[in-house]
Amino acid sequence: MNRTALQQCSYGVYIISAQGSGKLNGQIANTVCQVTSDPATVSVCINKQNLTHELISGSRAFSVSILAEETPMQFIGRFGFKSGRDTDKFEGISYRMGPSKSPIVLDHATSYMDCELAGSMDAGTHTIFLGRVVDAEVVGDGRPMTYEHYHNVKGGKSPKTAPTYAGAGGDDTTEKKGETMASYKCNICGYVYDPAEGDPDTGIGAGTAFEDLPYSWVCPTCGAAITEFEKMA
Ligand code: FE
Repeated sequence: MNRTALQQCSYGVYIISAQGSGKLNGQIANTVCQVTSDPATVSVCINKQNLTHELISGSRAFSVSILAEETPMQFIGRFGFKSGRDTDKFEGISYRMGPSKSPIVLDHATSYMDCELAGSMDAGTHTIFLGRVVDAEVVGDGRPMTYEHYHNVKGGKSPKTAPTYAGAGGDDTTEKKGETMASYKCNICGYVYDPAEGDPDTGIGAGTAFEDLPYSWVCPTCGAAITEFEKMA
């Protein structure tokens, strides 16, 4: 089986949010699809290990925020590579509570949909949730980010719990290596710092060696400290 075929499906990049027991949580997902138009219904596929899965099952509701292309990697990392069991992902960000009583992330969103649970299907490691859309709004004028843009332009990776995770080494995009400067890899999420590209989101210019990064610099994808990086062979 050639898994490249699976990678050619088109996806977006979304934050799926839900609440329960006074806790708000959200996570990145790329598998949101409109299922029917009348009534407006969408599906989303969520890993059973994730806190968001527990909260959607309990509250029987969730929201979908569609992220803009300009969304910084740190913001995606906050929702994509950290567990809400350890951190409050909603601290300091802009959100509103929807009619379904789910929190809706507004920062970096082009639009959102608020959904009440209309059904679910067991998919092994994941559950496919169906959501009846009870509210939807356009909140920004950016272009919606595609999963391809996230991987190819922003250098993003998939966490192990993503439905599209292809295993270690199977999810790499082409990396340009600096002629003399080494690339460094994050041990937590697999993000690769390429000195030829720098980290434009935090003002690190192209051509900046890893050794010259400020000590306060953190992994743009998962927020790990600089000490979590390892030199690549
Ligand atoms: Fe990382």
